[in-house]
This record gives sequence, C-alpha cells and structure tokens, in this order.
Amino acid sequence: MPDADAGAVPAGCLFCRIAAGDLPARVVLRTPRVLAFEDVNPQAPLHVLVVPVRHVESAAAISEGDGELLEEMLIAAREVAEASGKGGGGYRLVMNVGDDAGNTVPHLHLHVVGGRRLGWPPG
Ligand code: 5GP
Ligand code: ZN
Repeated sequence: MPDADAGAVPAGCLFCRIAAGDLPARVVLRTPRVLAFEDVNPQAPLHVLVVPVRHVESAAAISEGDGELLEEMLIAAREVAEASGKGGGGYRLVMNVGDDAGNTVPHLHLHVVGGRRLGWPPG
C-alpha cells in the first residue's frame, strides 16, 4: 500500500520506475525509503540524484510528517558524497522547484553535485 499522503502517481513517472527497478540506473545507495543513482547527464564529476522511493511531486509538496524522509535523503547525500571520494572539497545540494528553476522531472530529487569548483550564483 502506498502512503496515504503519497497522492496520485503520474503514469509512467520516470523516477518511480527507476525506484521500482523497471528502468535501469546506476544505483549507488538504496534504503527502503530512499534511492540514490547517478544522473544520466552529469554536470560535474560527482552528480547523483537522491530520491524518495514513494512518489513525492517536488519539494513544494513536502508537508508535516515528511521530516524523517528529508533527514534520510540528506544523510544519503552525505554518504554518497563521502563514498564517491569526490566530495572532499565540498559539494552542492539542490532541489529545483518549477519551470523557472529548471525542474524537468516531477518526482522529488536532491542533486548531489561536486568534484569541481562550482560557480555561484547559478546562471
Ligand atoms: P531537474 O532538472 O528536474 O532538477 O533534474 C532532473 C535530472 O534528472 C536531470 O539532471 C537529468 O539529467 C536527470 N535525468 C533525466 N532523466 C534521467 C534518467 O532517465 N536517468 C537518470 N539517471 N537521470 C535522468
Ligand atoms: Zn514518481
């Protein structure tokens, strides 16, 4: 049974399918609630996406009760960065929300980006 607050899952949601094992991905970490896999179009030597296994639309859909999930995603991000050996100089965690931010996949994901000097502010 999906969580009661999971909402409707868009048919064929890309990251739901990856989390279910229906689509291939280079998985680097898996827990019962969180999956981390390499971005197919990496923007830096380290570029991993940390996603909840259950469907959550975006960071804007987070509500009370999701604290443990977010905690698990942040811990996963740190573990991924440390295990990669590429995050020693620092790394960036990004959640894009909406078109202006460049959000393209409507399933919550935390970008873990590092392994090179990153510019700021974003373009
Ligand atoms: P957004 O632009 O929504 O913040 O990030 C979506 C990310 O998902 C992009 O960095 C894009 O490269 C990545 N992506 C899109 N489709 C796939 C896919 O099928 N597999 C993997 N591993 N990454 C994907
Ligand atoms: Zn989904």
